[in-house]
Amino acid sequence: MPELTPKPLTCPCCKRAFESQLVVGFSIGEKESDFCPRYLDGNPLPNFMHVCPGCGFVGYEADYRNLTDERKIEKIKRLLVGLLWEEGKKLGGAERYRRAALIALYLGKRSAEVADLYLQATWCSRMEGESDEEEKQARRKAVKYFELGLAADEFAPEDQPVVHYLVGELSRRLGEIKKARKHFAMIDELPHVEPWLKEWRDKQKKMLES
Ligand SMILES: [Zn+2]
Repeated sequence: MPELTPKPLTCPCCKRAFESQLVVGFSIGEKESDFCPRYLDGNPLPNFMHVCPGCGFVGYEADYRNLTDERKIEKIKRLLVGLLWEEGKKLGGAERYRRAALIALYLGKRSAEVADLYLQATWCSRMEGESDEEEKQARRKAVKYFELGLAADEFAPEDQPVVHYLVGELSRRLGEIKKARKHFAMIDELPHVEPWLKEWRDKQKKMLES
């Protein structure tokens, strides 16, 4: 189990005070080809997302502190009503990240952040043994928002090679060969690509040909 410590939180939407758990320690072994970490002592990802038992708001600990704009809060409240909620409902990790991604969209967060939430939803989905279709849906959305983020120039130059690699690999996993090739090839157009990333790219590119 990851190391946790109790954390009192107050929901920005329904103002409920409740106790959640903060992750204070975990250990990672290797990473899979879509960067999904192989955790050595259990998956801490669900615990990074705090679920309000009263209304179903989901966010990082910082979201609980930073969401103070009343107009945005009203928007999220309307979204949560539409998503339906039962008091104290338990959500798995993948469900938490999908819900957080939707909330991030409504908050007008950058596409890069939305993409990252959907990517983590796919990792949780796999670790939690959800159906392939569930994982694929989140993966398609991760690709969509990574591409929007690239188009809007949201990524720093040093992060762009990794993003193209990821979109390439996610597309490969979705069977979108043309798109995978395009993003794998983009890596050669960029300056300062780390050698390990080129190695990973070459390995995944080879799998496209086989
Ligand atoms: Zn709430």
